[in-house]
Amino acid sequence: MEELYGRQKAMQKDEIATLDNSFQWRAGLEVSAKVSCQRCGSRFSKEENQLPNQSYYCPYCIQFGRVTSQTYLVSQVEKPNVSREVVFTWQGSLTPAQQKISDNILENYCRAKNSLVWAVTGSGKTEMIFPVLRYCLQNGGRVAIASPRIDVCRELYPRINEVFPQEETLLLYGDSTETYRYNALTICTTHQLFHFYQAFDLLIIDEIDAFPYEGDQTLAFAQRNALKKAGNYIYLSATPPEHLLESLKDTFCVEKLPLRFHQRPLVVPQLVWYEKWQYCYQSNWKIKKLIVCLKKLLKDNDVLVFCPSISYMQKLYAKVSEFFNSQEMDCVSAQDEQREEKVQHMREGAYRILFCTTILERGVTFDHISVVIMGANHKIYSKSVLVQIAGRVDRKGVYHYGQVIFFYDQKTLAIRHACEEIKKMNRLAQEWL
Ligand SMILES: [Zn+2]
Repeated sequence: MEELYGRQKAMQKDEIATLDNSFQWRAGLEVSAKVSCQRCGSRFSKEENQLPNQSYYCPYCIQFGRVTSQTYLVSQVEKPNVSREVVFTWQGSLTPAQQKISDNILENYCRAKNSLVWAVTGSGKTEMIFPVLRYCLQNGGRVAIASPRIDVCRELYPRINEVFPQEETLLLYGDSTETYRYNALTICTTHQLFHFYQAFDLLIIDEIDAFPYEGDQTLAFAQRNALKKAGNYIYLSATPPEHLLESLKDTFCVEKLPLRFHQRPLVVPQLVWYEKWQYCYQSNWKIKKLIVCLKKLLKDNDVLVFCPSISYMQKLYAKVSEFFNSQEMDCVSAQDEQREEKVQHMREGAYRILFCTTILERGVTFDHISVVIMGANHKIYSKSVLVQIAGRVDRKGVYHYGQVIFFYDQKTLAIRHACEEIKKMNRLAQEWL
């Protein structure tokens, strides 16, 4: 039998009969007036999900293997923490502002308190958590850094690996080739948390406000299950939504950082009216505004063009290709099998223009970039998404005249609130300087 320290696995009755007493188990479904799943927290009526043999099953977490009323969730209690040496090889240093936040989250953790780090895009969030990671590992603790976004995990993994070279850091996500093994430091998508049970002393959730985490109650349930009873959270976000701040106000310390790493202000979006942007690919006349804009932006930087849907992106890409060297541009979406390669090409400067959907809204950093949003008034662009996209610009190095253009034909609340929040953070940053 494989080890299940801090893990949970769905098993049938005859399987658990063979387990020794280091294992513990609980019913997969609790059945009373309603049925509630102990893995994902979903509740449903008995009639809803009944099998021919009269037992029930949970359809909401079936992608991780079926849990029925005949199933047990088996796990092993984590061994006690033993302090140890941890090799930490980070050569960089924190700015005074980062240091302050970093000290606070370490102190909160030592006092068994949860933290929400509300730090603007490009503030260097990852570096600020190094000390608390190190502290937890040195005390024999187990840590996971989870994010709803695969790209964020992929970008985090090499950076964490580099500063903790002897930790055998695990990177887990849906299609990852890496198989699970017991270790102290895990980077994973939030969906992987369904496989853990009372495993982590410290659970860090990066981009807590991102899809698909935001609004998914089963993920929140899995996350609570994955934390040890005495464990603590650190949430990281540049754009925590109002309802999240409200729900955390009694249980989390909020640490706010308005300053970017390089101490320059966030780039404020320019709002540019674009009549019927939805159809701008239909003629040379209609596309002209975008072409003129791109030519201007390309003098200083490469450009990311955000589109509200894949089909729109493809049509726009085809039209704009008529005006530029097609070798130097491409488009990418979540459905793209070459997604990783294309993002890498953009980073290396192989493209001048990359059309994308909101998959690139966060977690990725490009040098010398300007961004254009086509149809910033589209409903897909919430305030958070707009702030995140604007935050792709001017993230590191010397100032390069990166610009943020919102093309729109209707002013939405999201546009107004995004611009207000960016300006407010810039004012707060002034006070910190
Ligand atoms: Zn379930």
